[in-house]
Amino acid sequence: MRASRYLIATQKETPADAEIISHQLMLRAGMIRKLAAGLYTWLPMGLRSLRKVERIVREEMDKSGAQEVLMPAVQPAELWQESGRWTEYGGELLRMNDRHGRDFCFGPTHEEVITDLIRNEVKSYKELPANFYQIQTKFRDERRPRFGVMRAREFIMKDAYSFHVDAESLNETYQVMHRTYCNIFDRVGLDYRPVEADSGAIGGSDSHEFHVLASSGEDDIVFSTESDYAANIEKAVALAPAGERPAPAEEMKEVHTPGQRTIEAIAEFLGIDATRTVKTLLVKGEEDENGQSGLVALILRGDHTLNEIKAENLAGIAEPLTMATDEEIKSATGCEPGSIGPVNLPVPVIVDRSAAHLADFVCGANRDDYHLTGVNWERDVPLGRVEDLRNVVEGDPSPDGKGTLEIRRGIEVGHIFKLGNKYSKSMNATVLDEHGKSVVMEMGCYGVGVSRIVAASIEQNHDDKGIIWPDAIAPFQVAIVTLNAHKSPTVAEAGEKLYEQLRQAGFDVLLDDRNERPGVKFADMELIGIPHRFVVSDRGLAAGTLEYKGRRDEEKQDIPVAEALPFLI
Ligand code: ATP
Ligand code: MG
Ligand code: MG
Ligand code: MG
Repeated sequence: MRASRYLIATQKETPADAEIISHQLMLRAGMIRKLAAGLYTWLPMGLRSLRKVERIVREEMDKSGAQEVLMPAVQPAELWQESGRWTEYGGELLRMNDRHGRDFCFGPTHEEVITDLIRNEVKSYKELPANFYQIQTKFRDERRPRFGVMRAREFIMKDAYSFHVDAESLNETYQVMHRTYCNIFDRVGLDYRPVEADSGAIGGSDSHEFHVLASSGEDDIVFSTESDYAANIEKAVALAPAGERPAPAEEMKEVHTPGQRTIEAIAEFLGIDATRTVKTLLVKGEEDENGQSGLVALILRGDHTLNEIKAENLAGIAEPLTMATDEEIKSATGCEPGSIGPVNLPVPVIVDRSAAHLADFVCGANRDDYHLTGVNWERDVPLGRVEDLRNVVEGDPSPDGKGTLEIRRGIEVGHIFKLGNKYSKSMNATVLDEHGKSVVMEMGCYGVGVSRIVAASIEQNHDDKGIIWPDAIAPFQVAIVTLNAHKSPTVAEAGEKLYEQLRQAGFDVLLDDRNERPGVKFADMELIGIPHRFVVSDRGLAAGTLEYKGRRDEEKQDIPVAEALPFLI
């Protein structure tokens, strides 16, 4: 590609609303542009990287024996009613009507569609196991789309669904997919960890998430210092020995964030952002008709405060809830408000709707010098910082008895899940087994955040000059920068020649033939993050050399013109 004929949409200024480095650099390097909240156009430069990720994912999925399909993005409500998710899925589901008034949604995921397909197409155990995947646009109406394509509303996912006659077969495919995911993330060049994940509402089954280690990650993951044990924080909490730290009361049950309608519903009610704010939700007691139970504990994420919770909303579920001054609190409770945590510290909130039997405690409020009273803390959960309450902290013994735990931030780029018969049962997807008996199929599902990977890679690979692409997903592998080519036919010609030679050898090459100052060209190529750069200049050519610099190199080096290609190979 010639830069003079290519959309190099680089920007000097850091966009104000881009909070994390990958978002900033994707905008500045001219990879993406925002259309509306959570909706992005991929510019030619960005699309090249996205397609390379896609290609790697496709190759590895094909290698695993999975079959590629392409399902409609728009799905009829009937299937979702059949599985029960039309009412369960919550606000992330974008619903719409056609001209006849029929209900549809824009698929956030495709379990229903694939289950419907396979129950019609597959009749016998002989056709199983089978694994189907697609690489396709999903829509999730994220409560808080942010970080560019990292948490977009429209994004590209690879989703796969496997079907089996029994659990043993599902286990085998699950292992194959685990290996396939490792191959994908190895090839993309990410520093990642597979971690045990909680299977939440579906229960019982296995689940693993693949996390890219990065401080901007939205999830906490837990590792052992001395073994392979790794889990997301929800899973780690579920497994953790109570130890010395006071555990939630025994009768409390944990409900975890992924896909939990209860968390979403309660967070909505409170006017807070569940994905960002609520770390763990504890519920106790009988569920009411809305699936909510009496005691609710919202354990806020470390970087969030009660200030985000509207007092009037809290009042709705925790009566009586009043505002009181520090003085009033002290005299009413004997508690020093400061001992609980000043307003701006992260505070867990535990609210009991029936409340009466629990001792009253105090927590921060959304007004300076005021605290909420009448908020009921579960007795066995002490007041304290989030870290104390989530029941797993750095330095805890690892559940496997080897080493201690370390907690890091992760970006979820992949998720594999044994679904069991959740969808096949509700949607009656059966096959005849070897005895001619009808059995409900076992299913697995496997997701990769294809577009998120592009951003996650940048989070791990950048410096103050811009992106540093791993070769495998760089938009271009090699940049050839010609200096003064508009005045020097020798330089222009040598640039063209090298360009053809490298292209013929199979490299993706960007020939920067723009009539721009050298400094501008160098800065752009560095910002865009092209891994290898050759500079063609009159001075170099006079000595028979090109200048080479790897994007991570400190020093430039001169290379004889004839050795440029062998040097790269
Ligand atoms: P998250 O916890 O980040 O919301 P999820 O658990 O809801 O993700 P899954 O349903 O497991 O997501 O979907 C499979 C993969 O799709 C995720 O592992 C992630 O990489 C990607 N993904 C999910 N939501 C988004 C999004 N809003 N933008 C970009 N990628 C996403
Ligand atoms: Mg998740
Ligand atoms: Mg999500
Ligand atoms: Mg997930």
